[in-house]
Amino acid sequence: MVLGAGLSGVTTAWYLQQAGFGVSIVDRQPGPALETSFANGGQISISHPEPWANPGAPLQVLRWLGRDDAPLKFRPTTDPAQWWWGARFLLECLPTRAHRNTAAIAALARWSSARLHELRARTGLQYDQLERGILHLFHSPHEFAQAPARARQLELLGIEARVCSRTECLAIEPALTAGAGTLAGGLFAPGDESGDAFRFTRELAARVRENGADLHWECDIRRLTGGSGTRLEGVEVCDAEGRQRTLRADAYVICLGSYGPRLVAPLGERLPIYPVKGYSITAPLLDAARAPSVSLTDESRRIVCSRLGDRLRVAGTAELNGFDTRIRNERIRPILEWVKSRFPGAIDEHQVEPWAGLRPATPGNLPVIGRGRAPNLWFNTGHGTLGWTLACGSAAALAELMRGRPAPVSFPFRLPR
Ligand SMILES: Cc1cc2nc3c(=O)[nH]c(=O)nc-3n(C[C@H](O)[C@H](O)[C@H](O)COP(=O)(O)OP(=O)(O)OC[C@H]3O[C@@H](n4cnc5c(N)ncnc54)[C@H](O)[C@@H]3O)c2cc1C
Repeated sequence: MVLGAGLSGVTTAWYLQQAGFGVSIVDRQPGPALETSFANGGQISISHPEPWANPGAPLQVLRWLGRDDAPLKFRPTTDPAQWWWGARFLLECLPTRAHRNTAAIAALARWSSARLHELRARTGLQYDQLERGILHLFHSPHEFAQAPARARQLELLGIEARVCSRTECLAIEPALTAGAGTLAGGLFAPGDESGDAFRFTRELAARVRENGADLHWECDIRRLTGGSGTRLEGVEVCDAEGRQRTLRADAYVICLGSYGPRLVAPLGERLPIYPVKGYSITAPLLDAARAPSVSLTDESRRIVCSRLGDRLRVAGTAELNGFDTRIRNERIRPILEWVKSRFPGAIDEHQVEPWAGLRPATPGNLPVIGRGRAPNLWFNTGHGTLGWTLACGSAAALAELMRGRPAPVSFPFRLPR
């Protein structure tokens, strides 16, 4: 029984079915991918394995304090979990930890990319995918000066990326020409991709159902019963009609995004996940020739952009703000201004759909994949900034572990004791 039907839950259900398990899915929403997996940046970004928690982060966050348009914003609450997470984040900024986390994410991301290719070849799934790479843009000479070192680091991790001059960037993505402004140069990762995570998840959920899964929609999970070293016995849910019931299975996989920690805490499980809010806008194209089709990451502004068919998705910003999912105009405005200045005339500004979602983030951005204390409790959650990039690999790896097979890739999985 997979708890949660976002990217993590639906891919988990798919790979468990492929491994021969009978599967059911439970989610409080009326369908798949209606929370954080709904309108993300769309990037399969193998070329960005470095977590936010890196040696440069503490100083950067301090510089951004008090700025409403800061790419990363800390809004202190009275929630001790927020402070605990913040302290662990600082710990993960230590060079040795950041280095280890980057290597683990890179290994999982590469493996995940191969799984996504296989899945696509096998299913023919269509989700506005584009295999045109990701171009990382640097708007200051100081930042661009670090690009060769990043390219070398990626090469050591087995990820192809090449440094590009401003002219080369404009050749890779001609739509950049109109608003290139201070563009200093870029880093191009040809193996990266983009696509609509919502469409992908919805289409894959339809396949999972065709393969015989029971899908329990509009079932709010209230409590997990049993557990704490002994077997988990069931999941107490409240359905759309307000009826309480208990759903049972042989094994349970937690894929509940930012809401997992609260549900597993009574079992003595501590999931190091806290919500890091992000925003996106999606707009129909007014003039397709003025819009990029290569996925972009503006490294100076921490904004990403992906072409999804006849729409443009632009996403960014991170806010440590508890479980508040309200859309704040002052966070949407810089994203909209970015697209207007970089790609003038590309989108229909009157039909912009703003969105906010909570990234289920661990301090070092390493997802929690593997087994819990109870022998029939499993996790595939906490993918933070890279839930789309790592979805297929994480789920395929979990399915291997649940079959009792060895870990398929070098990653700190939670293995049975
Ligand atoms: C602005 C933004 C941009 C991003 N851009 C990218 C990107 O470009 N590339 C990338 O790789 N990643 C990106 N991400 C990250 C990625 O979107 C997430 O990591 C991923 O969507 C998380 O998926 P999930 O399945 O773990 O969580 P979710 O999609 O949130 O799924 C959790 C599910 O659990 C259900 N649930 C929760 N609590 C309960 C309960 N009590 N009862 C029943 N059901 C429950 C929810 O309804 C939900 O369906 C971005 C995220 C944001 C916010």
